[in-house]
Amino acid sequence: MLKKLKELEDQSRQSIAGVNNLAELKEIKVKLLGKKGALTALLRSLGTVAPEERPGLGREANILREELERVIELKESSLRDLVKAGQWEQERIDVTLPGRPIDSGQKHPLTIIIEEIKEIFYGLGFQVAYGPDIESDYYNFEALNIPADHPARDMQDSFYLNPQLLLRTHTSPVQIRVMEKLAPNLPVRIIAPGKVYRRDDDATHSPMFHQVEGLVVDRDITFADLKGTLLLFAREMFGSDQKIRLRPSYFPFTEPSAEVDILCVMCGGKGCRVCSNTGWLEILGSGMVHPRVLEVSGYNPREVTGFAFGMGVERIAMLKYGVSDLRLFFSNDLRFLKQFG
Ligand SMILES: [Zn+2]
Repeated sequence: MLKKLKELEDQSRQSIAGVNNLAELKEIKVKLLGKKGALTALLRSLGTVAPEERPGLGREANILREELERVIELKESSLRDLVKAGQWEQERIDVTLPGRPIDSGQKHPLTIIIEEIKEIFYGLGFQVAYGPDIESDYYNFEALNIPADHPARDMQDSFYLNPQLLLRTHTSPVQIRVMEKLAPNLPVRIIAPGKVYRRDDDATHSPMFHQVEGLVVDRDITFADLKGTLLLFAREMFGSDQKIRLRPSYFPFTEPSAEVDILCVMCGGKGCRVCSNTGWLEILGSGMVHPRVLEVSGYNPREVTGFAFGMGVERIAMLKYGVSDLRLFFSNDLRFLKQFG
């Protein structure tokens, strides 16, 4: 019996030492110490030995059980350490490796121009106002004194959603929305940047483009205020020696109206291909707010006057950066966009 115990101990130590994963070790533990395990079977067979030998053998068997439990526990913890070490090896990183370069984004050239325009007008005490891209016929046309038979209302030019709603064709509806909200308070001094939509698509027209609207309403606002404001804008945007030229024009919502030119940014006024040899480039439309527009918006045209202007952001960006095709701004070509940091 004692010999059997000794044999079992030797075998057990050997097989525990040979194990190299936790699952196998668990199996061996069950085989040795479990209810149907080898040591348990040996203890059961104690009944067959002489009664005086039983206590001694029983003690020996219990000592062996404790010893095996201890060996298994040691093995288990060393196996666990190995598993952990393996995980660490897999997760190991080399902190001396050079980092991967991160491609940082930057502002779109149109965003840069819009922000520049805002800054210029903030400096003149203007506030920024916004209106919806989907506009009603009333705000986009009627309130702006655009008669029902005006060509701008033509289905060919505008994106209609239904007979009453359309994608706004200009930022001018924001004039009406702002005045309706503020009337009869003075002064009104806002710019309204935003997207506008027309059925156009070529090198100088896009079905969606950006405008910045401007509106000033107060007592005693004159055409001189309009000219002075736009001259200052042109100089801030295109250089301190810029000149502007006003040409009589027609817009339904301003009277009188003027188109504003700057000296050609390519030739400085000498005449070139870009300015069709005139030396001048048109940058915006403007005029004194039509009395009827003031009236429908809640202001008394006998007490207050105002001026308004609207400029195309893409047009300004093309002139400022010397870009000849407007579609480049919308083609998402990083080689183009990365030039504007
Ligand atoms: Zn020119």
